[in-house]
Amino acid sequence: MGHHIVFLGPPGAGKGTHARRLGERFRLPHIATGDLLRSSIRNGTTAGKQARTFVESGKLVPDRLIVQMIKERFEHPDVASGFILDGFPRTVEQAEALDEILARDKKQIDLVIDFRASEETLIERLSGRRTCPRCDANYHVRNIPTRREGICDGCGSDLVERQDDRLETVRARLKVYGVETKPLSEYYERRKLLRTVDGNLGIEELQEKLVEYLERNDLA
Ligand code: AMP
Repeated sequence: MGHHIVFLGPPGAGKGTHARRLGERFRLPHIATGDLLRSSIRNGTTAGKQARTFVESGKLVPDRLIVQMIKERFEHPDVASGFILDGFPRTVEQAEALDEILARDKKQIDLVIDFRASEETLIERLSGRRTCPRCDANYHVRNIPTRREGICDGCGSDLVERQDDRLETVRARLKVYGVETKPLSEYYERRKLLRTVDGNLGIEELQEKLVEYLERNDLA
């Protein structure tokens, strides 16, 4: 199996946490469009300025902006042997654009992991989430505590609560997911690329299953 992997699923289902760990384990770049956008916003780039109000209100940024961002990211040599995409694609248009970009290099998506979780789980996770603004690590006040309260284990920065993790915005994001992103499951199912996993599981249990699955499918 090739190593071009997409993580699909609603916010809070565990895509970021698992993509980060698996990326380290299998030496694949973890590419999270949400992280790229937040960093552009922090740095005040043109793309960041265009994206800001969408991100803060929980709406999707326009497809052309995000597709351009991914194209630029793919110019980096670290994607030569594959990647784990986290949070992209999020619309059918983006998925089609991604197929086209890869086809130009005679590549294709090899596997899509679809994280499913109950709304209760998602809201509990997002409302307790804390994020490192410097290295993008995610924690949770109860489920993934830091060694020192409020401080990132990895880089020592002060953690923040993402503005879009507030309850009203979380509800908007879940709605957007249902309307715009959920149809992608079918898009990839039709291509026989989809593998569904239970995002309600605890991190260690699901991580073990994912590692086992990827190793069995020759990723290691
Ligand atoms: P995330 O960190 O994946 O939850 O993304 C945070 C926010 O960034 C989303 O609510 C969107 O506003 C924006 N975003 C991230 N990825 C995409 C994408 N592929 N398409 C459109 N908007 C995106």
